[in-house]
Amino acid sequence: MSITDDALRANATLAGDYDPAGAGPPAPKIAIVTCADPRLSGVVRLMGLADADVDLIRNVGTVIDDDAMRSLIVSTRMLGTREILVINHDDCGLSRFSGDDLVERLRAETGRYPIAPAQFFTFTDAERNTREQVLKVRSHPWISPDVPVRGFVFGVRTGRLTEVLVEDPVVPAAG
Ligand SMILES: [Zn+2]
Repeated sequence: MSITDDALRANATLAGDYDPAGAGPPAPKIAIVTCADPRLSGVVRLMGLADADVDLIRNVGTVIDDDAMRSLIVSTRMLGTREILVINHDDCGLSRFSGDDLVERLRAETGRYPIAPAQFFTFTDAERNTREQVLKVRSHPWISPDVPVRGFVFGVRTGRLTEVLVEDPVVPAAG
């Protein structure tokens, strides 16, 4: 019996208590990008937010990549979310190895050299990485400047969010 089979059997029973009240069209108020790490699964409740108010976008490493941007654009432009949070965390798995090392290992283990993913977005400094992700969101031309984008690092041992203040970079004048 796999975990999936167990889960399907449980679903057949648990769905009996399902409340269809939340089945209407979604109307989230805020979009949150965070890590797929299970330790982040409670973060919405730790902020006192209702599940229905949050468009939760997760991937390994809290990366603003093409797919995260796709979700954020739909979230703000189609679903009407008005604020964006990027929540990285300490002790992230993606800070324990380098992308190059992982690629080397996978090539050795599999004997295969696929072209994708082009990168794994590993990082060493959660704060710096968060700043970069926030700037990527703010830079996207389809994210309205009226939507505030703020970054945080979640402490997996404390349950606390620490804000990463992000100034828009000063770009030297051309010429
Ligand atoms: Zn993580």
